[in-house]
Amino acid sequence: MVAVSVAYGLSLGCMSAIPGAWRRTAAGAGLLAPDGAVAPTIFAEMSAAAVEHDAINLGQGFPDEDGPAEVLEAARAAIANGANQYPPGRGIPDLLAAISEHQQRFYGLAVDPASEIIVTAGATEALTATLLALIDSPDDEVVVFEPYYDSYAAAVALAGARLRTVPLRRPDFQPDLERLAETVTDRTRIILVNDPHNPTGVVFSRAVQDEIVRLAEKHDAVIVTDEVYEHLTFTGPHVPLAILPGAAERTLTISSAGKTFSTTGWKIGWIHGPADLITAVLTVKQYLTYVNGSAFQPAIAAGLRLPDSFFTDATATLARKHEILGAGLRAAGFTVNAPQGGYFTVADATALGGSDTAAFCRAMPERAGVVAIPMSAFVSAEHQKDYSGLVRFAACKRTSVLEEAASRLAAARW
Ligand code: PMP
Ligand code: GLN
Repeated sequence: MVAVSVAYGLSLGCMSAIPGAWRRTAAGAGLLAPDGAVAPTIFAEMSAAAVEHDAINLGQGFPDEDGPAEVLEAARAAIANGANQYPPGRGIPDLLAAISEHQQRFYGLAVDPASEIIVTAGATEALTATLLALIDSPDDEVVVFEPYYDSYAAAVALAGARLRTVPLRRPDFQPDLERLAETVTDRTRIILVNDPHNPTGVVFSRAVQDEIVRLAEKHDAVIVTDEVYEHLTFTGPHVPLAILPGAAERTLTISSAGKTFSTTGWKIGWIHGPADLITAVLTVKQYLTYVNGSAFQPAIAAGLRLPDSFFTDATATLARKHEILGAGLRAAGFTVNAPQGGYFTVADATALGGSDTAAFCRAMPERAGVVAIPMSAFVSAEHQKDYSGLVRFAACKRTSVLEEAASRLAAARW
């Protein structure tokens, strides 16, 4: 990740005298400055900047409208009906059943609710617990596509493994298959795949997916997928890696209710896969949070059972928002990459003088009254120049908010 002094304006303080795993975690995430100062995550920093400058927050990916009323009501009812104590360690049976039904209904995947699923505190806990559970040596490698979601490098560093990256290059952000094949070796313990992808918005081609599975089999690696945007694909139905031939027995599939049901604060996620791998992850997960969200679990079970129209409408609504955002960004002088899935549109600010994307995004709240996230926050220090000028904008906001943001950006003087 980019050096802290370049990417971030804030610091939480100098902690160089405090030993501990926090240090390699912060360094992995690019949050540790050479003088020992540690910065907050880019999302915390940019959301704070939005408040400070009364700017429109197109940075952190959270919706500004509530999700389906049935889901919200089910959580209220669960609290009223006493679902307020520890749920079972793997999750309540009704949610485990609903996740299994969901995987069968949308993907034809058969998943045993009793032994092959765990409910987690969001996708974040599922990812970190998996890395902590499966990494066993500093020589273990985790292959990720770069740019990558911020928690990946942090959790790989915490787990004590080595991060290996495969670049996603403009204009289409698909990885080069030869580069992928060179990067996955017998040292690879895990190939971690986020699809649809945050921040680029890419959906991996079938050729890329096939190659991931082939390489995982060849080198006996575990595939870990992060599919939190599974219901927000604009180019066709989502294809989970676990349905590809040979994949299911070595794949841990992670998802979350946050994006699908606009409940990012509830932190209900899940992971499923072969029973032995799931037991390994559970062994660690039970000492992280043990359990969470007793009243939210039945509500998400209700959400997962909503009719198909809910899921298709949510996708169509978000696709429309991306179009409105994209048109606004083009009118303001950005070059826009139309996303294939997920919450985010990536735009190039080079024509506006924004090739130093971190500096550009740090100035944007005051200059334009809009907050966005610099791509530099998702890229390791040595690859910064490949992504210069790129800015990530969240489209998961009301249309009127997107329009106002676009007109502010068009009016700004850079
Ligand atoms: N993975 C990706 C790609 C994300 O964008 C996010 C954030 N929404 C997460 C994981 C974290 O998900 P959760 O809030 O369920 O922990
Ligand atoms: N997933 C959200 C994003 O990419 C951020 C979540 C967080 O703040 N950690 O914007």
